[in-house]
Amino acid sequence: MQVLKFGGTSVGTPGRMRQVSQIIDDGQGKIVVLSAVSGTTNQLLALSTELRNNNLSGAENLLENLKVEYQTFIRELLKDEGLRQKALAIVNRSWTVISNLFHTPVFDVEEKTILAQGELMSTQLFQLFLSQQGIPSILLPALDFMRIDEFGEPSLSLIREQLSLLLDLYPTDTYFITQGYICKNVFNQVDNLKRGGSDYSATLIGAAIQAEEIQIWTDIDGLHNNDPRVVTNTFPIRKVSYREAAELAYFGAKILHPTCVIPAEQNKTPIRLKNTFRPTAPGTLISSESSGRRITAIAAKNGITAIRIRSGRMLNAYGFLRKVFEVFESYATPIDMITTSEVSVSLTIDDSTHLPNIIRELEDFGEVNIDPGHTIICIVGDELNAQSGHTKSIFAALENIPLRMVSYGGSRNNISILLEEEHKENALRLLHQHLFSPVKEYV
Ligand code: ADP
Ligand code: ASP
Ligand code: MG
Repeated sequence: MQVLKFGGTSVGTPGRMRQVSQIIDDGQGKIVVLSAVSGTTNQLLALSTELRNNNLSGAENLLENLKVEYQTFIRELLKDEGLRQKALAIVNRSWTVISNLFHTPVFDVEEKTILAQGELMSTQLFQLFLSQQGIPSILLPALDFMRIDEFGEPSLSLIREQLSLLLDLYPTDTYFITQGYICKNVFNQVDNLKRGGSDYSATLIGAAIQAEEIQIWTDIDGLHNNDPRVVTNTFPIRKVSYREAAELAYFGAKILHPTCVIPAEQNKTPIRLKNTFRPTAPGTLISSESSGRRITAIAAKNGITAIRIRSGRMLNAYGFLRKVFEVFESYATPIDMITTSEVSVSLTIDDSTHLPNIIRELEDFGEVNIDPGHTIICIVGDELNAQSGHTKSIFAALENIPLRMVSYGGSRNNISILLEEEHKENALRLLHQHLFSPVKEYV
């Protein structure tokens, strides 16, 4: 079996749903994971925010807009009046779930129920479209098998168990459809795998069923060597290793959810990134085989806070870093970059939810400085540290940009640089010119 995931733009219009149906209908067994229609999750989030801010009329307006959009969508998607009525009943169920929350306080749990409606609607509408085309399919409700644990991490063994029970009910069927992104938590509440989480759903399902291949279909020809939204002349990379892809995804390459490579890497399942609008383009293959490129790609992640702890007690002391790390551990806050000098340590976090408490505890160890609004630029390559010359190009590219931190040698395929957010776009373009100019690319 294969797992094919289609993102929001791939199911964003009735015409695109038709393209998806043509891609999947090749007679081979597969689980198709769908995102919400593009824009819907953002609109649902805006609606939930209005409710949290007690702005009922704002929420009502947003719901009215969604209703109109979906009515048009359904009219274009389905020809048969009977199917249209079924589709309207599907979306009306979601509108009722949402409007029932208009007169109750909205916290995280309610918000997640609102957000889940996007994937619940897109999958059911797509299934109706398949039935119009005479393509039989089974809808597997993700809320019946996708599970996260008390730390918000996927419970792969539970997912495997529940999904195989479901699949056993349909031994002769070929096409299965399910929702990306949504899941249930340990309290049996509706939850999700965070924004962009449908990629993660696909790789978790792939790991659970030991899929031959996981395909992530989106709106671009594969993983590009730099952010195509910022830099012109980026190009797709044919193959990258799990490690390279994981670093790029974690450090901001939006085409992949930050942690979605992990389940595939553990099972050595290849991931293929494909373009729904150009299915014949080769895309990118993510597998154990590395890109073989000196420098594979550059990515950037915004919203980073740098923290510096300066302490005389660090001089010649052991155990100091352990105490610092324990503070972050106790607030479940991951550290991305770290550099040390004799008397101070600088590190970065991207989740500042617990920052005030973290600062309070760190102040016991010394003087604490906080610098929000930073970007980590991550340069990824194959055996990057074993090659010489590229550090010179990197520093030459960034010579006029103030650098806050540099991390080199932490892994064999990553160099990370911290700078202020305002310099991000310029830095990405300059690095692109210096590292991927035609002459230098294969040196
Ligand atoms: P989907 O809705 O299909 O999940 P996303 O919007 O999440 O799609 O991801 C695809 C987008 O990621 C592309 O349209 C592109 O603008 C952006 N992107 C950012 N960095 C990269 C990169 N290095 N390679 C390819 N796409 C990238
Ligand atoms: N619909 C969700 C989002 O927009 C999940 C996804 O598309 O991957 O974040
Ligand atoms: Mg995405």
